[in-house]
Amino acid sequence: MAVLLGVLAVLQYRWVGQLSADERERLRSHADNQADNLTEEFNRELTRAFFWLQVGPELQRDAPLDDEVTRYARWYAAAPRPELVKTIYRLSEPTTEKGPWVVERFARDPARLEVVAWPAELDPVKPQLQQTLDARRNATPQRLIPTIASMPALVIPRLGPSREQSKERAEGRNLTVSPLNGYTVAVLDRPYIEKELLPQLVERHFRLSQDPSVYVGIYGPGIAFSAPAGQVPAALRSAPDVADDDLFEIRFFEFRRFVTDRRVEPPPTVAGTIGAAAVAGRPVTPPSGANTIIVARETRGGNPFRGRGGQGGPGGPPAPHWNVHVLHRAGSLDIAVSHARLRNLLVSFGVLLLLGTSMGLVLMTTGRAQRLAAQQIEFVAGVSHELRTPLAVIRSAAENLADGVVSDPKQVKRYGDVIAGEGRRLTQMVEQIMEFAGFESGRATLDVRPADLGGIIEEALRGADPLVREHHATIERRSAAELPAVLVDPGAVSRSLQNLIVNALKYGGTPPAVVVEARRAEGGRREVSVTVSDNGAGIAPRDLPHIFEPFYRGGDATARQIHGSGLGLSLVKRIMDQLGGRITVRTDAGKGSAFTLHLPLAPEGALAGSAADRAADAPALGDPRVPA
Ligand code: ADP
Repeated sequence: MAVLLGVLAVLQYRWVGQLSADERERLRSHADNQADNLTEEFNRELTRAFFWLQVGPELQRDAPLDDEVTRYARWYAAAPRPELVKTIYRLSEPTTEKGPWVVERFARDPARLEVVAWPAELDPVKPQLQQTLDARRNATPQRLIPTIASMPALVIPRLGPSREQSKERAEGRNLTVSPLNGYTVAVLDRPYIEKELLPQLVERHFRLSQDPSVYVGIYGPGIAFSAPAGQVPAALRSAPDVADDDLFEIRFFEFRRFVTDRRVEPPPTVAGTIGAAAVAGRPVTPPSGANTIIVARETRGGNPFRGRGGQGGPGGPPAPHWNVHVLHRAGSLDIAVSHARLRNLLVSFGVLLLLGTSMGLVLMTTGRAQRLAAQQIEFVAGVSHELRTPLAVIRSAAENLADGVVSDPKQVKRYGDVIAGEGRRLTQMVEQIMEFAGFESGRATLDVRPADLGGIIEEALRGADPLVREHHATIERRSAAELPAVLVDPGAVSRSLQNLIVNALKYGGTPPAVVVEARRAEGGRREVSVTVSDNGAGIAPRDLPHIFEPFYRGGDATARQIHGSGLGLSLVKRIMDQLGGRITVRTDAGKGSAFTLHLPLAPEGALAGSAADRAADAPALGDPRVPA
């Protein structure tokens, strides 16, 4: 069983370890997915704005694009989140080398474009636009990054109705659009993003209100957002469990999603390209086959909208994005998992410990039961043996009497005495056994009341009288003139004292000289002590710790074949325990032993009231010296 327990513990340990590793993986990938979904949805909103402001959702094959004012107005009138875009500027490239950019701001009610001076809020965009313009003039086309996360804003190349007839158009599968020399700049509403859009998205994807197990942060140029609002640990920014760095990106391959008029979809066999994808300068794999929308195609030489490489594309520096950070509330995912692991280990090892302890207990109780069974068998054998001798004596004496072998009256009296003595020993033994059985079963109850100690001692001496005579012993009784009353069961204490006196006679010297001494305890202890001392050989040190155990008989007692059951002292001890008293023993090798009963005092004057009790408990005190 112990080996099995050990094996189980090892298996359990490994299994819990494995579970934790799996759990860590599961939690990480769950958080990863949530961050991914959030990024996806946020980017979709950006992409929608880009698409609506570049071509508009209502595309029709072979139809010219709506004019830009209509497209801008449609955003505010019909987009799901029009608040995302704070201001729309239409920028036109300078027509001459040193000429100025023409900036028009979109105004609503009525929808119109108003020419304004270059606004300060567009300053961060200018270098990029100028660079792209110069590059094109020098015939070294360069890509444009369509997102400026730090503002935040979208830079959207403008498209207009096509002025050229392309081959695709002739085949009827292309939109009639062509690039214009300019950009639509949509300045996004940062407060709206921080206070409405991001909290909504975080709640939708992380459900923090129901399962607040993680912190979510969004960091990057121009943003430091965290959920839940309030204090979040610094590790959320510096050492998150999961980080997704794709937030604030236009997903050109998703353009198809935003077209509300499907008539522009090309015939299933025709493959096309997404022209606008190239505008973004991000690596995009155009979906092949059906359902491809061609939204723009550059026709001029050295166009900036096609080709690979360049800023923001492969080989160029990445466009600055925002990052989604996720951190477990426990401090990190690893900490959370290791806490859970510790808990699991504690629970499983607790169960194993319980199992081990119960096994130990079963072993212990089985051992005890075995010892008890052996003791009982020993007892039965011992008692039978003890019964045999007096019975044999009684029987042969009785037979002799019956057969008329003895007729002399003196001899008949002796026979009578022998039979009475053996009968007494039998009775005493049977009583001890019954008393012991009473204690063992818990049925024995003591009748505790205030009692006179002198009477109790007297009673005990009287009970031992025949044995005293048999052993030709002397018993000396010493006691103070006035003994206080004790709170005990007088019968039980008298039997206990008698037991001690009988032992003193049995194990005493030859002839035995027994002293019974009662005195009040010194030092203010509320008890009276009664000591029975003898002049025997004393108790062997190896026997001393066991003499109060039931059925225990000293080596000397068995060797000298002194009659006894081994129950006497154990009964005395139990009676003392129940009365709240004690029994102590002193022994001197070769000089004798002294057993002392310590009895609790009765309250002052408790006995005075009931003279009848006193009379019953204290028969007339006779001569303290009982003659042999
Ligand atoms: P029993 O006397 O029937 O054997 P007890 O419980 O009265 O059983 O005593 C247990 C053992 O203690 C005895 O067998 C004996 O060895 C030892 N013993 C008890 N009283 C004395 C005594 N006064 N002197 C020496 N040994 C004693």
